[in-house]
Amino acid sequence: MSDSNALGQLLSRDVAEPEFHQAVEEVFNTVQPVLDKHEKYRKHKILERMIEAERIISFRVTWTDDNGDVQVNRGYRVQMNSAIGPYKGGLRFHPSVTQSVLKFLAFEQIFKNALTGLPMGGGKGGSDFNPKGRSDMEVMRFCQNFMAELSKHIGHRIDVPAGDIGVGGREIGYMFGAYRKSQKEFTGVLTGKGYGWGGSLIRPEATGYGLIYFADNMLKNIGDSFEGKKCLVSGSGNVAQFAMQKILELGGIPVSASDSSGHIYDESGITAEKLAFIMELKNVKRGRIKEYADQYPEAVYTENADGQDSNPIWDHPADCAFPCATQNEINATDASNLVRNGVKLLGEGANMPATPEAIDVIVDNGVLYSPGKASNAGGVATSGLEMVQNYSGINWSSAEVDQRLQEIMKNIHDTCLHTAEEYGHRGNYMVGANIAGFIKVADAMIAQGVI
Ligand code: NDP
Repeated sequence: MSDSNALGQLLSRDVAEPEFHQAVEEVFNTVQPVLDKHEKYRKHKILERMIEAERIISFRVTWTDDNGDVQVNRGYRVQMNSAIGPYKGGLRFHPSVTQSVLKFLAFEQIFKNALTGLPMGGGKGGSDFNPKGRSDMEVMRFCQNFMAELSKHIGHRIDVPAGDIGVGGREIGYMFGAYRKSQKEFTGVLTGKGYGWGGSLIRPEATGYGLIYFADNMLKNIGDSFEGKKCLVSGSGNVAQFAMQKILELGGIPVSASDSSGHIYDESGITAEKLAFIMELKNVKRGRIKEYADQYPEAVYTENADGQDSNPIWDHPADCAFPCATQNEINATDASNLVRNGVKLLGEGANMPATPEAIDVIVDNGVLYSPGKASNAGGVATSGLEMVQNYSGINWSSAEVDQRLQEIMKNIHDTCLHTAEEYGHRGNYMVGANIAGFIKVADAMIAQGVI
């Protein structure tokens, strides 16, 4: 069967899965030079096997809200590929969660985890549960009931979930407690745990820090630096917060942040003090980004409008852009706006934040572009370091973990560049990331036979 037939088969089998198709098509389109050069990958039907999940678990989660009413949600775990290690990937709690969204995330995770150089397979999970507006006790009851089923399918050598959108330290804590009680054992079954009970220092910071370390490597590669660079950042959650912190440390100037209601643009720059306000607002008070503009009148807040055909956060003058909210938050119009506004580097913190058309505009205009599966891999890499610390029963210092994170991000950066060059796509980080990740997993699959 040809590659396009395999893709066609996928499209006809999984009809209502647009996000999954989008992620798969990108990889299909970029790994063709490898398939042409090495006949073994087509012979062993590696692409066909990679796009079929090893296992998908879908389950009912019932829980009671604070009024005593019964609520019903759907939970999932997509165990996509375990050729190079136990399944690893986050849990997302958001009303937009569907099987398609989790399959795209789990598929991307295969390549991302391979790029880290650590032995981790690809997985992802979550639920359409919306933690926003729910009390701590409601979130706890949901997490406990979610884990009552998930615990049957995971384990520290089987599948090790972590956080993602809507799942932070609070949710990991509730789920870890539920797992520990039901299984009667204390193992590193989840990552992103609190430092006093098996967590790793720097794990909360790792995705945002890693993103900016990766971008710093891209800039250094062209003899440039973050010094004085204005940076558009979307989102105001875990990834966005620590990306902004590292931008500030490296001499750059974050000028925007957002949530699902709208965005703030602060031309004077989001300073360390203003960032502390955002962290308190989002992590403790669980408020909205709009309140930033009430606190700092020099900032302008723009509410999202229904049916808007572009995202106004990407229409401000800047040098760099870091989407750190969600998938498909940059379309072709946004990409054109970024180019027109002088953006020279786009680093993806979120997973698949740019549409294929947007990526074309970005790349065609010579903007330095890093795909999420490379530039946001610092989070899962540090989760891998948390697993190593759990296995060996030791804790590393912040400096030690940070040092390893920096080395991993530099290695991923260099691997992407070298691989892209080897396959005739000089400077194309997306091609380099997809090919390098593909080869590592494909070779492991071939070595382990047809299973
Ligand atoms: P958080 O839940 O901490 O923050 C998400 C942010 O994005 C919030 O500001 C949220 O706003 C906003 N957002 C979420 N969904 C939407 C939407 N549909 N439209 C507009 N804004 C939205 O999540 P993270 O920071 O952990 O994750 C952000 C991105 O980074 C995701 O794509 C995730 O997959 C990716 N990622 C995360 C990693 C991690 O370690 N946490 C690792 C690698 C990638 P609101 O509060 O209004 O919902």
